[in-house]
Amino acid sequence: MSTATEALEYNVEKIREDFPILKREVNGYPLVYFDNAATSQTPQQVIDTIVEYYSNYNANIHRGVHALSQEATDKYEQARHIIQKHFNAEKAHEIIFTSGTTHGINLVANGFASLLKKGDEIIVSALEHHSNIVPWQILAEKTGAILKVIPMNQEGELIYPAFEELLSENTKLVFVNHVSNALGTVNPIEKIIAKAHEYDAAVLIDGAQAAPHIKADVQALDVDFYVVSAHKMCGPTGIGMLYGKEKWLNKLPPYQGGGEMIATVTFEKTTYADLPHKFEAGTPNICGGIAFGAALDYMNALGFEKIAAYEEELLHYATKKLLEIDGMEIYGVSKEKTAVISFNINGMHPYDIGTILDKLGIAVRTGHHCAQPIMDFYKIPGTVRASFSFYNTKEEIDAFIKAVIKAKTMLS
Ligand code: PLP
Repeated sequence: MSTATEALEYNVEKIREDFPILKREVNGYPLVYFDNAATSQTPQQVIDTIVEYYSNYNANIHRGVHALSQEATDKYEQARHIIQKHFNAEKAHEIIFTSGTTHGINLVANGFASLLKKGDEIIVSALEHHSNIVPWQILAEKTGAILKVIPMNQEGELIYPAFEELLSENTKLVFVNHVSNALGTVNPIEKIIAKAHEYDAAVLIDGAQAAPHIKADVQALDVDFYVVSAHKMCGPTGIGMLYGKEKWLNKLPPYQGGGEMIATVTFEKTTYADLPHKFEAGTPNICGGIAFGAALDYMNALGFEKIAAYEEELLHYATKKLLEIDGMEIYGVSKEKTAVISFNINGMHPYDIGTILDKLGIAVRTGHHCAQPIMDFYKIPGTVRASFSFYNTKEEIDAFIKAVIKAKTMLS
């Protein structure tokens, strides 16, 4: 919970000035952007970094002797160090640039195809995004491994004792998200990682939804793999990172072949580059990587503790106001949750509510949020999801509540 002093120190109006998009109107109304769990907005500092890259030192990296190539290489590798520091990885080469969370998960799933055999067991949770389900189903089909699922309860939490029962000496890998994108539940990953390690199983944490709110320390967590997307934390799309413990990254084979990832190539035999380049085939998203570093610098300057405290205030404020609306059902009521509210009203279709909100300038997500098993659990086709960020305000929540009431009236 935030203290009064923290709230006073937090000047949201000043922060909002950094986000040019927040000044725009949609359908004649000031934009209220509550779709932050899908993608966050970009501060001017990050936009400037992108413009500066293409204006001043756009060049391919790691191969040129010329000045521009050196500059771009230096900035790209500096960004890797910023990311390393942010997630407290022991070594910079444990940070692999990817195109995002989905890419990172597929990279690991693909690698484990050579490590698993028929009858091995891998464990997923009921609370996952499709990105953390489908690659493992493909892996299970390829290898004959058995996919088991940690069940969830009505509150939208994982049933931890059921997880303990699923573990066995056949368990090789566990993959759960840190925070559920559909409900906002924060999963007890510390406990999950420690327990899985008792069985020598590796653990991958999908940090896509946690990273904008919680600063994960991969060494303190002792996690084997942690994946994120920059676009959910003030960076651009098409860039993300996979953290992997060095011992695991050395065990996994390359994901893609091509330039950058090789040491030597002959038609008889190719040898691979050292980490991290072994997993970074082809020309990477150079500008994206540099901008990812700038996004982390921006968020760290604000301070993750302040961000979390402020967002919690927004979450409580909005939850209280929404619950005053007759027929309101909120899914995912864990005490441990980030600023995400998934709801329905009296059987009204979420798409209809979302469309009316859009007409009033309010951006929310509607549908199954790439988490169909969660919707099946609640026996609903989807929800309306409002997800808040550190630049949202209580006034925006007031406008949202008014719009939800209006939508309800129109659809009744
Ligand atoms: N995992 C979670 C929990 C997510 O919320 C998302 C995106 O919404 C993803 C994975 C996929 O991220 P990306 O599309 O950036 O690869």
